[in-house]
Amino acid sequence: MAATTLSQATSSNIVTPLRDTAPMRVVDGFGRSVAASSRFVSPRNHGELLEVIAAARAEKLPITFRGSGRSYGDASINEGGIVVDVTLLRRVISWDPETGILVAEPGVTVEDLWRRGLVDGFWPAVVPGTMRPTLGGCLGMNIHGKNNFKQGPFGDHVLGFTLVTADGREIPCSRDENPETFHAAIGGLGLLGAITNIRLQMHKVESGFLRVEAMAAPNLEGMFATFRERLPHSDYLVGWVDGTAEGGELGRGEIHQANYLTAAEDPAPGELSHTEIQGLPSTILGVPKSILWRFLRPFMSRFFITFVNSMKYFMSKLNHGKTYIQSHVAFAFLLDYVPNWRLAYGDRGFIQYQVFIPDGTALDAMKAIFEASHRAGMPPYLAVLKRHRPDKFLLSHALDGWSMAMDFPVPADRNALTALTDTMTQIVLKAGGRFYMAKDSVLRPEELKAAYGDERLSKFRALKAELDPDGLFETALSKRLELSR
Ligand SMILES: Cc1cc2nc3c(=O)[nH]c(=O)nc-3n(C[C@H](O)[C@H](O)[C@H](O)COP(=O)(O)OP(=O)(O)OC[C@H]3O[C@@H](n4cnc5c(N)ncnc54)[C@H](O)[C@@H]3O)c2cc1C
Repeated sequence: MAATTLSQATSSNIVTPLRDTAPMRVVDGFGRSVAASSRFVSPRNHGELLEVIAAARAEKLPITFRGSGRSYGDASINEGGIVVDVTLLRRVISWDPETGILVAEPGVTVEDLWRRGLVDGFWPAVVPGTMRPTLGGCLGMNIHGKNNFKQGPFGDHVLGFTLVTADGREIPCSRDENPETFHAAIGGLGLLGAITNIRLQMHKVESGFLRVEAMAAPNLEGMFATFRERLPHSDYLVGWVDGTAEGGELGRGEIHQANYLTAAEDPAPGELSHTEIQGLPSTILGVPKSILWRFLRPFMSRFFITFVNSMKYFMSKLNHGKTYIQSHVAFAFLLDYVPNWRLAYGDRGFIQYQVFIPDGTALDAMKAIFEASHRAGMPPYLAVLKRHRPDKFLLSHALDGWSMAMDFPVPADRNALTALTDTMTQIVLKAGGRFYMAKDSVLRPEELKAAYGDERLSKFRALKAELDPDGLFETALSKRLELSR
């Protein structure tokens, strides 16, 4: 394996031993249902990152990399270790406005990407439902967007990166150089080393806007049928599902299809990146966005959520077939409209549970999942349907099939939720499905094995043993799922 040696750190702020000097912090998963107390350090540059890795290794202090902490579960927390926050490594190293190739440090965010690229006519090919994640987090989880069926995951647009391993080697990774490590570290849950120096191909767009069409679907069969019909003609396709509907309306909801505009269709040519056009509003109905979550909190009950979902579905029937023009940002980052909305779920927080099920079994399995949630008296408060395609990454969650992401508030009796997720997990496994680690906090090692298969997990563990023989890199998730060693 080709490798260069560790470059020397210069003028550093890192004080050692980390075990005694780095401040203790409690950090949580985005859903707030899991948290852990650990040492916390924020290197300011590449040299400091190398120094932290060397110091932690010498002190046998397990490292957990953390971007913006947008993973819902325990992927970037770790009781007792040291959390290495990469958000200060936020330099765009180079940007080519002709080719749309960007080279950046891992703390650069999805927001930084579009702000840098759009002025020159480039949008990130794949974005999640929030613009806050970092490049490190996007690669660590190999995130997907509402266009996974067409553009694949984030990793499909990464040209290369450098992996800093436990012994301080800096390994160049691309499809040509160390391809096995390239395909394992992308989606490798931060367990093989620090991903830095990321080279990304952005997607050329002719307009700052999309044409969006809204369509109501009377049930899950209707959702699938509309998706199937629209997929060949869509740049993005996403379904909001009313998780509270039952009987013949089980899985009813609204689908949004979005397509890029050509330059000739652009309603505001030359205004591609204007902040007032692309940015989200600072107030909603006159209320500052920053305090909106407080208004939501009293209404987070099953009764109210059923009412809101019904109203939303009623509106979707009124809007059926309507088309409108929307900015990229407004379409892509709906969940950023209300900052801190996660706090509305209250102190126990919530979990997100996202399942990926093959095309042939998805419809029945998803119906069974909703029915199980109703039987348990815990329908999902939010549910989102997407279509996916397989990819070449070792621990890929995507397959030729469908995903349903569901939010469940954590009830006073947490065991009741565990019983429900256990039931749903068995449905998914029987249907040949997988789970998404960025959302997971419930899976057990044997369930991971059943979903991903021995061969892939053994390959991953072998690479981990080679690159990180002492198990320096670990997370609460990797310990729970026995992936650390
Ligand atoms: C509102 C919301 C909407 C979302 N929508 C989507 C969506 O549509 N599609 C989707 O796929 N995901 C979605 N997500 C999940 C989110 O995109 C992922 O969890 C992403 O990984 C978060 O990035 P982060 O910077 O917060 O990383 P973190 O959550 O902090 O870390 C994620 C993983 O990356 C590792 N990591 C971080 N930096 C590095 C590094 N430099 N080197 C090596 N490993 C590193 C961490 O150890 C961890 O395992 C959503 C999350 C939220 C909160």
